[in-house]
Amino acid sequence: MENVSIDHPSSWVSYRPSLCDGCWAGCCTLPLEITAQDLVRLGLATPDEVSGSLKKLARRLERENRISSFRARTGLFMLAQKNNGDCQFLGENRLCQVYERRPDVCRKFPEIGPRPGYCPKQKKQ
Ligand code: SF4
Repeated sequence: MENVSIDHPSSWVSYRPSLCDGCWAGCCTLPLEITAQDLVRLGLATPDEVSGSLKKLARRLERENRISSFRARTGLFMLAQKNNGDCQFLGENRLCQVYERRPDVCRKFPEIGPRPGYCPKQKKQ
């Protein structure tokens, strides 16, 4: 487990729920593409906004540093990360601050992700 590297999914470990105990939340440092519906649930956009121009919404969210990019082809928004690479919603206690409202992709990890069924488990520093 010492040699697990977030950037190298081949080093990740086979997932089991007990791995989350005492973990540093490496999964919450991975790039995150989210949907317009996720933005509404997170309170970053209104239902009216997502039924209008997604490009216009993306420009506002980029200005506010909530997203880093938007892909019109897929309609997915790349959530902006903190300078240290953490998700903007990851607290100093390494717990999600929006757990009940978290994006679908977070709910499905590690069923989906860079290496389905595996996680970048590392102990809290
Ligand atoms: S929204 Fe929450 S669960 Fe999802 S990556 Fe951010 S901190 Fe982790």
